[in-house]
Amino acid sequence: MIRGSCLCGGVQFEAKKVPLIGLCHCSLCRKANGAAFESGAVVPADDLELTKGDELIQAYESSPGTRRCFCRVCGSRAPSKSADGTHYFVPAGLLDDDPGVKPALHMFVGSKAPWWDITDDLPQFEEWVPGYGPDDPK
Ligand SMILES: [Zn+2]
Ligand SMILES: [Zn+2]
Repeated sequence: MIRGSCLCGGVQFEAKKVPLIGLCHCSLCRKANGAAFESGAVVPADDLELTKGDELIQAYESSPGTRRCFCRVCGSRAPSKSADGTHYFVPAGLLDDDPGVKPALHMFVGSKAPWWDITDDLPQFEEWVPGYGPDDPK
């Protein structure tokens, strides 16, 4: 099990596995995280269990259908379900254990912060990873 929690520890969860971590540079992710990019782990919904603090989680709909969850006590991000309910997006900074994977790609590099330079050799996508956008068939 890979454990995760928010800053105050009120929200806790366990993931069976973390198949992928992607780095998103879009302006919404940057603001939501207060960071250069979001390091987002993608976990199938069946593989993640909220073990504590469900009642502390509040959601902000940053664009139609996209709910960004956070802990209303400490303000940390919390796991957020995808619009179709199949996945959780988990800010990887919440993970307490090593997920066993490293970031695989950069997305939305077209709206990257001007003060951040990407210095690794991971694949870069201007916007969505082709085939995984909101309008692509699942
Ligand atoms: Zn918290
Ligand atoms: Zn983003």
